[in-house]
Amino acid sequence: MDRRLKYSEHSKKLVLVVDDESVNRQMLGYIVSSEYEVIYAENGVDALEKIHSFQDTLSMILLDLLMPGMNGFELLEILKSDENLRQIPVIVLTSEKDAEVRSLKLGAADFITKPYDMPEVIMARIGRIIELAEDRMIIMHTERDELTGLYTKDYFMEYCAELDQFYPDWEMDAVAVDIEHFHLVNELHGRYYGDRVLSLLAESLRQVLSEDADGYVCRYEADMFYMYCTHMDSYEKVEQRIAEALKDMLHTDRIRVRYGVYPKVDREVEMAQRFDRARLACNRIRNNFMQSIAYYDTEIHDTSIFEEKLIHDIRGGLERGDLIVYYQPKYNVQGDKPVLASAEALIRWKHPELGMISPGAFIPLFENNGLIQLLDHYVWEKAAAQIHEWKQKYGKSVPVSVNVSRIDLYEPKLEDRLLELLKKEEIEPADYLLEITESAYAEDSGHLIDVVSRLRSRGFRVEMDDFGSGYSSLNMLTTLPIDALKMDMKFVRHVHEDVKSQRMIELVIEIADYLSVPVIAEGVEEEEQVQILKDAGCQIIQGYFFSRPLPPEEFEKLLL
Ligand code: C2E
Ligand code: MG
Ligand code: MG
Repeated sequence: MDRRLKYSEHSKKLVLVVDDESVNRQMLGYIVSSEYEVIYAENGVDALEKIHSFQDTLSMILLDLLMPGMNGFELLEILKSDENLRQIPVIVLTSEKDAEVRSLKLGAADFITKPYDMPEVIMARIGRIIELAEDRMIIMHTERDELTGLYTKDYFMEYCAELDQFYPDWEMDAVAVDIEHFHLVNELHGRYYGDRVLSLLAESLRQVLSEDADGYVCRYEADMFYMYCTHMDSYEKVEQRIAEALKDMLHTDRIRVRYGVYPKVDREVEMAQRFDRARLACNRIRNNFMQSIAYYDTEIHDTSIFEEKLIHDIRGGLERGDLIVYYQPKYNVQGDKPVLASAEALIRWKHPELGMISPGAFIPLFENNGLIQLLDHYVWEKAAAQIHEWKQKYGKSVPVSVNVSRIDLYEPKLEDRLLELLKKEEIEPADYLLEITESAYAEDSGHLIDVVSRLRSRGFRVEMDDFGSGYSSLNMLTTLPIDALKMDMKFVRHVHEDVKSQRMIELVIEIADYLSVPVIAEGVEEEEQVQILKDAGCQIIQGYFFSRPLPPEEFEKLLL
């Protein structure tokens, strides 16, 4: 219970006077009752009973030390060992100097000497101690996270800074601890269970700080904890401790604890930024189930600066036209001679300072922060305009496929946007193919199937990209509305070298046959690969063997 609330409900605060001699009780009671409500106890046992019944409203205990039965020292011991009771301030009543020191050590807040000949001094002391205790209570309630009892983030940051000041020579680590897919814990087992997981994790981190290192820990956000501690060479012990504490709580491998460590922090770097670094390392291994601890190093540092730059530059780059859509041809190989069938639009960034940047460096980045939509809209428009231009110029074009990121699929009016685009450029949906990567299907198949069905009902054809890289189930595949399977490159890479890859390709083609859709192979670099794929029944081939992705002015030579 929040003691502060209780205080304000009572007009007079409650004080317990504990003394075995009735004269003393009366005298002190008389003084104190001028401002406080007073209750009395004759010995330690009696006092403890009263303390228990009034623990939420009691503002102060005035405690005699020498009493028969349980004496004042014994009572102090008991109060000190109880987390709730130790919050109630105690002033000891004594006439001996020695006893003062001993009782202060036992947690007494102050002392009043007998005899009670200076009532003003007594009242001033009581008033001051009560005020201090109340202030302390207010701080306690805002500096601690309710659920875990750990510091809240503001206090944490402040205490870390203090620690730096007091121990300028200590080597410190900034650590970010995250529960990956924590929302699943809540979804699978309910909030109460989720809270329990967080509390256990908090408790283990506290143990780390009491046994393995010195420092502070806080709950920074829902399922993200920060720890600032003396340097440890390895965090495997920390990981083991926590794994042990949570071993019966997390029932699937998808839910796990991830650690990002910025070791031996540079004290020139701001406190908050040190944790940004730890967090960055932590996020590097998101969904990487081979690794659960990541250390911030110069490579991560450089990558993050590079990424910051890309994020900063993308809008300007699009406006200036630094981003260029390339086209890679896809050939139909079923006849005697390969015939140009379509093309895939692939983005390239000619950065004025950094040079040519490949999509692998920025597509995943922009998918994480939503900028991908901006980029994809740009590519979609360029590709549509390109088809229009070729039609004007040559009286013909080939269908062009554009990549649709999983993020784009959450745009409510996706099909309207695309149809408008086609209308503007006077082209048909049949000229404009959409590639959606398989992992998007695995992520939220219900939603995706809806979107894809809507797109197809408006005339678009949808190809499933990188098939074999995701985890879509066979069940889902059979209900899937798609028009082609693009086989993941990894199957093609070794197809001319080992039998297993060949078998995989046959399987993909069997599935495609079952779905009555063609198979497209990409990443085809060797003539041998072409032959094997062709023999296995693959219709369309895309790859360096035929051509790399080309800028529009080169691609259009293929149209002649
Ligand atoms: P993807 O859609 O699977 O595209 C095929 C990738 O394979 C392209 O890489 C292409 O250049 C590459 N490739 C083609 N033939 C060969 C070959 O014979 N050997 C090898 N080793 N590679 C080959 P790129 O252009 O670097 O694009 C990488 C990925 O980035 C694409 O994979 C796609 O997922 C994404 N991407 C590219 N452009 C866009 C875009 O405009 N929007 C979105 N959302 N994603 C894009
Ligand atoms: Mg693609
Ligand atoms: Mg692909």
